[in-house]
Amino acid sequence: MTTAERGGPGADLRVDPVTGTPTVIVGSRQGRPNLPSDGCPFCVGGLEAPEPYRVRSFPNRWPALGDRRCEVVLYTPEHDQTFWGLGVDGARLVVDLWAERTRVLGARPDVDYVLVFENRGPQVGATIAHPHGQIYAYDRIPPVPLRALVDGVLRPEAVDERFVVARRGDWLAWVPEAAGWPYEVRISSTTAVPDLVDDRCDRDGLAAVLVDVLARLDQRFDEPMPYMLWIHQRPTDGGDWPEARVVVTIASQLRAPGTPRFVAAAELGGGILFNPVDPADAAEALRNLPGVPV
Ligand SMILES: [Zn+2]
Repeated sequence: MTTAERGGPGADLRVDPVTGTPTVIVGSRQGRPNLPSDGCPFCVGGLEAPEPYRVRSFPNRWPALGDRRCEVVLYTPEHDQTFWGLGVDGARLVVDLWAERTRVLGARPDVDYVLVFENRGPQVGATIAHPHGQIYAYDRIPPVPLRALVDGVLRPEAVDERFVVARRGDWLAWVPEAAGWPYEVRISSTTAVPDLVDDRCDRDGLAAVLVDVLARLDQRFDEPMPYMLWIHQRPTDGGDWPEARVVVTIASQLRAPGTPRFVAAAELGGGILFNPVDPADAAEALRNLPGVPV
C-alpha cells in the first residue's frame, strides 16, 4: 500500500510504508537527454540563454515537479568557470538571484518551501558542465528541513574550533562532528539569519564564505571536487518558525584523489552511514589550504 498525495501535475508523491521515505514518481523525466546533442544550452546563444547575461534563471525544461516549480540558475556565462572563480562580486550576483527567486516562488500560495541546490560534476549526475544550480519550490516542507526546524539543534556559535574551516564576517564554515560525507561542510551565520531574503542576511559575507570553501574543496585533491550543495532556509508557508536558519550544506564526493565515496548497501539497508574521513581531520586539511584571498 502506498499513499498518493498532491504534488502538482505530473508529480505523484508516494510514501513507502516500510521505509517511510517519500518518493515522487516522475516518469516524464525518463525522456530527458543525458547530454544535449547540439552544444551547451547555457552558453550565450544557446537554447536556454539566447541573450547575453551575467546570471540567469528560467523554468527547468525537464521538471521533476509540475506547476513551474523547478528552475535552473546560471551562475555565469563562462562555460569553464567555477563558483569560486567568480570571486565575491560574481558570487554575490548568484546569491542575489537565489534570494530573488526565493522571494518570488515563496510568495506563491501553493509553495511552502523553496530549496536552492546544486549538483556539481558528472559523478553526482550533473548532465551539463556549465556552472549552474537549481531550485525546487515544494508544496510542502520536505522532511529533512522540517526535522532541522523542529529540533532547532543548529548552533554555529557552539562549534568546536577543531571543526572550523573558515570564517567570513558572521558566517562560519565547519565540518559537522557527525559528518556523513567526507569533507562535508556546513555554513551558517552566528547571527540569526532565517532566509536569504531577510534584511539580516549578509549576502556579501555569504558569497565570500562560499567562494572560500569551494576553492578549498577544489584544492584538496588538486582536481574539481564533485559535490552536492543545498540551502535550508525558512519555510514560506506563513508559519513563524523561530528556529529557521540559512544553512548551506556541501556534501563532497571524493574521499581521496580520484576515489569517490559511495553510499552503498549496508548504509542504505541499515540506515547508518560510515564516513571514511574523520571530520576533525577533514576540517584541519581544509583549514590549512590557502583558500582564496577574499
Ligand atoms: Zn556553456
